[in-house]
Amino acid sequence: MSAEVIVIGAGPAGLMAAISSAQKGAKTLLLEKNEVVGRKLRLTGGGRCNLTNSADLQTIINNIPGNGRFLYSALSQFSNKDIINFFEKENLPLKEEDNGRMFPVTDKAADIIEVLIKKARQLDVDIRTESPVRNIPALGSVILTSGETLRAKSIIVATGGNSFPHTGSTGEAYGWLTHLGHTITELYPAEVGVLSTTTDLQGLSLQNISIEVFDQKHKRITKHQGDILFTHYGLSGPAALRCSSHIHQALKKHNLQSLDLTLDLFPGKNHEELRKVIFAKAKKDHNKAIKTILSSFVPKRLVSLILTQAQIPSDITFPQISKKSWDDLISTLKSLKIPVSGTRPLKEAFVTGGGVSTKEVDPKTMQSKIVPGLFLAGEVLDISGYTGGFNITAAMSTGYVAGTHAAIHANSPLLR
Ligand SMILES: Cc1cc2nc3c(=O)[nH]c(=O)nc-3n(C[C@H](O)[C@H](O)[C@H](O)COP(=O)(O)OP(=O)(O)OC[C@H]3O[C@@H](n4cnc5c(N)ncnc54)[C@H](O)[C@@H]3O)c2cc1C
Repeated sequence: MSAEVIVIGAGPAGLMAAISSAQKGAKTLLLEKNEVVGRKLRLTGGGRCNLTNSADLQTIINNIPGNGRFLYSALSQFSNKDIINFFEKENLPLKEEDNGRMFPVTDKAADIIEVLIKKARQLDVDIRTESPVRNIPALGSVILTSGETLRAKSIIVATGGNSFPHTGSTGEAYGWLTHLGHTITELYPAEVGVLSTTTDLQGLSLQNISIEVFDQKHKRITKHQGDILFTHYGLSGPAALRCSSHIHQALKKHNLQSLDLTLDLFPGKNHEELRKVIFAKAKKDHNKAIKTILSSFVPKRLVSLILTQAQIPSDITFPQISKKSWDDLISTLKSLKIPVSGTRPLKEAFVTGGGVSTKEVDPKTMQSKIVPGLFLAGEVLDISGYTGGFNITAAMSTGYVAGTHAAIHANSPLLR
């Protein structure tokens, strides 16, 4: 059997690639190994699918620390606004939540998938589920695990990364692509829980704090503001997830067993402002122990960690606290140290860092610079973003561009 364009993998990248390829008039075949399409997509955003973000182009790029700059051209061809318009046109409006996060108004990821399938079918995309691909041995041919060989002028690989493998993203395409001459940069977990020896705070959540990661020379690696949650293994929550890939990379690069991250529990107040407020309260309640005073400013469970780091006995009262101790206390509240030793594994990560080297892919078309007629889209590429809708945006944008240019390539007179 032959098609003009074969798309491998029916996640957000592959579905959008198949749609744009068919819109450009190419006979398009979409192959998916699972019995359903979009299995990972269904889980996204807690089942609600945070499919994009309303931010401007530069903010989108800034929120994709893994090669976001590669996406300037793709996003100028199919942006977050185009994603929003696409679903609105298909009668599934989106709504905006905090930090620009966009969800379908129905709060159902399944509705996003339904729209994509419906649109692909309207455009006569041939969607074949339960069709795992075994290999792309050479330009223009695809071998299924059933042994069947399919041919196409353009092939788009949109097989995803290697995290949450039970959804189908098992990473076998890396092997085929290496064989074809591509470089796969080292895979690592991104947007994943962080390991810490501070486990006695399990269940405690902190809202809107600032979190910074430093290397062993006290150079700041990254800084984020948001919520964190202490878990049985360490830290989770949006701000901790954002730090995770940086922590993984820094430990590896500097060959470290652990490093410190610091929490600013009062990012809205500078040292002096914070000192004034706590000092006033301690002065007013001058008979009360500092541990009691502090627990009206921070969760009770944090108090002993703070006082230990500030080296202040927990039972002393206002008249016994020296000026130096006040400084140490406020400094600790503004930079509470939490030792971290790594992250949870790749299979648990929301996103796979690393993948097909973006240096080997034309950013304007998503065509391989090594194998003409081969296109790449989505998380199989070395592209990884923070949570907030940035990963699906990258998948749909690169998918759209790959589909469009794969169709143009397939219909180019030279190939007829
Ligand atoms: C729990 C969870 C929640 C998330 N929430 C969000 C969110 O709210 N917003 C956001 O932006 N991002 C989110 N992400 C990340 C986002 O889901 C991914 O970045 C995105 O799905 C990547 O799209 P993709 O099409 O490249 O790959 P995938 O969605 O992984 O799709 C790849 C497809 O290829 C198929 N495939 C693989 N190998 C083969 C083969 N050999 N033959 C045939 N088919 C094959 C797979 O079965 C799969 O269906 C979340 C991730 C997880 C795990």
